[in-house]
Amino acid sequence: MVSTFPTPNSVNLSQIRLDIRSMQPQLVNWRRQLHQRPELGFQEQITSEFIAQKLQEWGIEHQTGIAKTGIVATISGNRPGPVLAIRADMDALPIQEENDVPYRSLHEGKMHACGHDGHTAIALGTAYYLSQHPEDFSGTVKIIFQPAEEGPGGAKPMIEEGVLSNPEVEAIIGLHLWNNLPVGTVGVRSGSLMAAVELFRCTILGKGGHGAMPHQTVDSVVVSAQIINALQTIIARNVNPLESAVVTVGELHAGKVYNVIADTARMSGTVRYFNPELEGYFGKRIEQLIAGICQSYGASYDLNYWRLYPPVINDAKIAELVRSVATDVVETPVGIVPECQTMASEDMSFFLEAVPGCYFFLGSANSAAGLAYPHHHPRFNFDETALGMGVEIFVRCVEKFCS
Ligand SMILES: [Zn+2]
Ligand SMILES: [Zn+2]
Repeated sequence: MVSTFPTPNSVNLSQIRLDIRSMQPQLVNWRRQLHQRPELGFQEQITSEFIAQKLQEWGIEHQTGIAKTGIVATISGNRPGPVLAIRADMDALPIQEENDVPYRSLHEGKMHACGHDGHTAIALGTAYYLSQHPEDFSGTVKIIFQPAEEGPGGAKPMIEEGVLSNPEVEAIIGLHLWNNLPVGTVGVRSGSLMAAVELFRCTILGKGGHGAMPHQTVDSVVVSAQIINALQTIIARNVNPLESAVVTVGELHAGKVYNVIADTARMSGTVRYFNPELEGYFGKRIEQLIAGICQSYGASYDLNYWRLYPPVINDAKIAELVRSVATDVVETPVGIVPECQTMASEDMSFFLEAVPGCYFFLGSANSAAGLAYPHHHPRFNFDETALGMGVEIFVRCVEKFCS
């Protein structure tokens, strides 16, 4: 992947404190062990046991089995103080890995192709470091290991099972290793970072018949074509041009033979947007267009619509906390990238709806080393130097927030 952002000359490792730098081989080792055993959403048994076993070994209080495979570790500083949560997701994707590395996936058809193995390793490293240095912070840090980010979503059930209370979490931070940015950079901004994601599935019900006698039919293919074009006018003509939004029809199935008019057509698509005020708008507008077009062609339809994740919105104060500590860890000024919004989505948004917080991108691409394939690619891999940087940034956030 080609980055449009300036690349720092190198990662400034001198900013990473020695005892975190010395954890680097361990971080890499954990990440690679996790990489070899990827598990899909809500099936993260081996991953969960791996984490619990480490926490046990280090004497860190923790609770397992939250939202099936989720874990929350609680680490207290020497003095009373605020409660900060750190969130890491731990699930993999149904992708066959094509990397030829000694630690490639041992699970057929499954792969850590988004970097959540790295997120888990960074969170483990942070837990270990904090447990060894309780004198460096006040209050409590809750480290949340979340299942099923890639779907159907583990954040919401974890919140429903109480991970943000007892003690009450005051703020939350989390990161995503990000191959859209070079290693040595941090993408952080206040306000919207990632888009809401919604999903629709629609079946157009027409009337089939002979390909040469269209007057006896209601052609579901022609109706679908009108609908697909019309849906783009939501972005072009309904949404304020100063807003960012996407409507994509990604799937369309109809017909089997060239000379038969298909009686039904099935399509599915996704909607993305940043502005929470648009919640509810797209579902309504999509149905209006589908209903109007079907009615005018004598077809009918069956539409299902789901709002999956809300947009990821960062709190200004917590984003400033992350930015200020990241500034000390990366080469400035090019190392901090506020222009890092993406229409991709994340269920970190549910945590950010519940408490103020900041989700940020930790640059992890290294083109020279061939580590720049995009997320969800069968050759995705990242520069593991970012692991230590992640721990350093999390630890500094704790020390500053819980000072
Ligand atoms: Zn992903
Ligand atoms: Zn991800």
